[in-house]
Amino acid sequence: MADMNIPAWLLVAAVAASGQPKRPVEEFAASGGTVRITPVRHASLMIEAGGQVLHVDPWSQGNYEGLPQADIILITDIHGDHLDRAMVQKLKKAGTVTIGPEAVAKALEGVTVLRNGETTKVGPWTIEAVPMYNLKRGPTEGKLYHDKGRGNGYVISWGGKRIYVSGDTEGVPEMRALKNIDVAFVCMNLPFTMPPEEAAEAVKAFRPKIVYPYHYRGSDLSVFQKALEGTGIEVRIRDWYY
Ligand code: ZN
Repeated sequence: MADMNIPAWLLVAAVAASGQPKRPVEEFAASGGTVRITPVRHASLMIEAGGQVLHVDPWSQGNYEGLPQADIILITDIHGDHLDRAMVQKLKKAGTVTIGPEAVAKALEGVTVLRNGETTKVGPWTIEAVPMYNLKRGPTEGKLYHDKGRGNGYVISWGGKRIYVSGDTEGVPEMRALKNIDVAFVCMNLPFTMPPEEAAEAVKAFRPKIVYPYHYRGSDLSVFQKALEGTGIEVRIRDWYY
């Protein structure tokens, strides 16, 4: 819904003045403060807590106008919508810690390697690398879009909140075995990851409190929503392509 009572010229003026789009921002109460999550675009999101900023898969196709630089950057994989050298450079400042799997570290300088299953701490943040990969989908017979071991999903913890960002994956056993996830960002889209019904099945297995479909371009989100009806898992649909 548009803001019906506000004249269009005023809205245009407001946007022009700030240069910033109206972004969805999600807030969660954690011990020690609020965790704010901003969907930026597709697989890109920003998490703020305790005065620090964490960017996941920053991508030039998102509008970063007015968003702060990063204390931590997490990169999931080598594909262009996840690893964008120019955007990483823009968001880096002195002391930024950039974390990614080995394949990302080979393609981009200054990346601290975190392998599948490994956990690291950066100040008050705990970052755990979860495998992300295809079980069956690939460009040709015998090939997968995402090979096991190459990319990382992440569980990001701050102030007792556990946030899962899936990266590009199918509903792999490692996702299904996750425990105590407060907020999950789960990918879906074909042909690269999985259809919404499959994503919903995986979500049912690990039961996050809240799930946001992301990296969903072209997917029918109503299928995902319907499949999780009555499970007690809250589905939050947001516009990731504004
Ligand atoms: Zn992707």
